[in-house]
Amino acid sequence: MADSLTPTQRSENMRRIRGQDTKPEIALRSALHRQGFRFRKNDRRLPGKPDIVLPKYRTVVFVNGCFWHRHEGCSKATTPKTNTEFWMKKFRENVKRDAAKTAQLRDMDWKVLTVWECEISSDLEGVAREIIGEVRSTAASQPPEA
Ligand SMILES: [Zn+2]
Repeated sequence: MADSLTPTQRSENMRRIRGQDTKPEIALRSALHRQGFRFRKNDRRLPGKPDIVLPKYRTVVFVNGCFWHRHEGCSKATTPKTNTEFWMKKFRENVKRDAAKTAQLRDMDWKVLTVWECEISSDLEGVAREIIGEVRSTAASQPPEA
């Protein structure tokens, strides 16, 4: 069956289906780890199985693929020219699911951060710095741990 996914998108898709870690996830985890942060990954106990969970800071990070999660204005968020209706529906479902899991997590008092694969590939250290900044501001607003 012909489709119009690029090889990168296709292999990324296969990784998702097999439940393996994607390259941007691995890169970001390593960057955070180097900065001394400890986390759980793909925590099944939380809505949406967040890619990175920082329990100490009650913060989760989703590493979103630009194509599947529709990064607005991103050149990677293309729409295949064949089976367009099918894809549009699929994308709408993904975006809706993302919004729902974010809302659920926020209701449970988690801070939810979303980062995009293109940001990680262009500026990994910058993304890591931003997350660390967010996490530190969360920690500062909370009473010290007992
Ligand atoms: Zn993007």
